[in-house]
Amino acid sequence: MAVHYRTEAFLIKKRDWLENDQFLTFYTKDFGKVEVLGKAIRKINSKLRGGIEIFSLSNIEFIQGKNYKTLTDTNIIEKFPNLKKDLKKREVADKISQVLNDLLKEEEKDIEVWEVLCEVFKNLNDQNNKILNYYLLFYYFFWNIISVLGYQVDFYHCVLCHKKIPNANNFFDLEAGGIICNNCFKNKKNIKEIPNDIIKILRIILKKDIDFLMKLKIEKKHLEGLYLISQEYLSYHI
Ligand SMILES: [Zn+2]
Repeated sequence: MAVHYRTEAFLIKKRDWLENDQFLTFYTKDFGKVEVLGKAIRKINSKLRGGIEIFSLSNIEFIQGKNYKTLTDTNIIEKFPNLKKDLKKREVADKISQVLNDLLKEEEKDIEVWEVLCEVFKNLNDQNNKILNYYLLFYYFFWNIISVLGYQVDFYHCVLCHKKIPNANNFFDLEAGGIICNNCFKNKKNIKEIPNDIIKILRIILKKDIDFLMKLKIEKKHLEGLYLISQEYLSYHI
């Protein structure tokens, strides 16, 4: 008889398969990222279908077959409805799913990733105003996941001379793997200055002070700065 595995999970991706099936990608508490086949789940009377929704927290049960896992039971724990209804929130949740899909290997349990994901989805669902801050939650997720994966950046010290960085004239040096000060910047080319506001935001993010982060008055230029540094770091390392 097959072993039934049970765990809490977020549905992060689905793709249609054959006439009525779907392959579902979950990020789970106990098994990390897993892909599970939902047999006949696109049929209107599917019992499995009611227990999962994109970005909702569910209990799922599956069995391991020879070639793939098959979903056997589902029930919803918490819906996080605003991640689907609010288009801006949906956009952020989609970006988070993309990071989980692209950066994490299958079946590597990681309780820290799980906790950051729960925290971010809950916060994103509950936020009421400050639309620009929704996007901060993406960067909160991104930089904390990067840290868990072993690519943490020190936003307090120069990566070359190890001195505490001043409040201005700092640069982000991908090859060196972090922030460099003005003294160490000499003779370097193709390196961009990193504004102090961005350094401050990244420090708050890595301190995991999500409540303080949500109180910040964010402007478009901050999001643009975060976008640039995150994209560069991602494409350099991964
Ligand atoms: Zn230095």
